[in-house]
Amino acid sequence: MKGTATMNRRQFLSAAAAGAATFVRPRPAAAVQAPRYDLMIRGGRVIDPSLRLDAIRDVAIIGGRIAVVEANLAGEAVDVIDARGKLVVPGLIDIHTHTGRSADGPGLVLRDGVTGWIDAGSQGADHIADVVAIARAAPQQARVLINIGRAGILPDGDTMNLARADVAAARAAIQSHRDFIAGVKVRLSREVAGANDYEVLRRSREVADGFGLPVMIHMGQTISPLPRLLDLLKRGDVVTHMFAPPPNSIVDDGGVILPAVLAARRRGVWFDVGNGQTGHMRWDTIGAIMKAGFWPDTFSTDWNTNSPTTGVIDLPNCMSKLFGYGMTVSEAVACATVNAARTFPVFNDRGTLNVGAPADVAVLELRQGRFEFLDNYKGTISGSQRLFPSATVLGGKQIRA
Ligand SMILES: [Zn+2]
Repeated sequence: MKGTATMNRRQFLSAAAAGAATFVRPRPAAAVQAPRYDLMIRGGRVIDPSLRLDAIRDVAIIGGRIAVVEANLAGEAVDVIDARGKLVVPGLIDIHTHTGRSADGPGLVLRDGVTGWIDAGSQGADHIADVVAIARAAPQQARVLINIGRAGILPDGDTMNLARADVAAARAAIQSHRDFIAGVKVRLSREVAGANDYEVLRRSREVADGFGLPVMIHMGQTISPLPRLLDLLKRGDVVTHMFAPPPNSIVDDGGVILPAVLAARRRGVWFDVGNGQTGHMRWDTIGAIMKAGFWPDTFSTDWNTNSPTTGVIDLPNCMSKLFGYGMTVSEAVACATVNAARTFPVFNDRGTLNVGAPADVAVLELRQGRFEFLDNYKGTISGSQRLFPSATVLGGKQIRA
């Protein structure tokens, strides 16, 4: 088909050239045919930090891929989304969720505009197959981080019993699900790992290195000082819950970012928000960190099925929480798209509306008004803007609820 089309085009061009030479015009019917797209998203404010684009544009999609991004695009489409007054951004990527805990999870977050997610340590070696099965069946791009604690998340602490940080079991689990396990998750807070934090991280490193995978650490309220833990991290690893209040936050009492934290970022360690519900973010700590200029690389929700009724609500809501600290809409979109796409290889070709990219798109509403945002300590701040999910396109198809 492709060869034939190329031939026809070449034949047409040579016919046109011959025609021009003899002052005979080519037949116009063959030359101009209105383009027909599968889907057009019309008239929205397209914000794509990967292209440094923030302007009113039409987005046209053919065959599940971005075909054209242009102003006042001519042509027709089988399906049209009227995005006037709305934001059109690359599909959102949430790198810290627990979407893999329930079969409903992937569909629920897809409606929030999330076209890619990572389940960050819901399960360890003993039950990793359950989470992998949900990621595998998910409509969007999804991968899993294996909890170094073989029994996964436990109310009395994943690795309070050090024997649960079982290197051999984790290795065997990764071996069995190499295609869907994208890294190792280790929760280090004192109520999760106790005094074992350093050793548990060391074992996570050992497991991850054997497969060339990154480690994601859950920081905050650790027994070991944060710099000692960061020592074990290298390029491509992720620190989640970067806004966690003391003890052992990334900022000291004087509002200065710890040198070890700056060094970690310099060597390529990512810093992620991980909104969550308890112990991970408090407005005063956020204020100090933002003021110091140490802004997140990525937003993430730490999503669970109860998130719609907690301070998380959805990823667009979490993305709105830093507007009051000076972050622009475009910067927030960058954190949830192009930046997030760099963290795990599964998202290599995502987080962009570049022509030819898979057509994953989030249409968001940026509402003006008075909105309350919640931290993890029942603290609220109010803001004048909030992002709401409006429509999701996955692989070129509009998701209908
Ligand atoms: Zn989590």
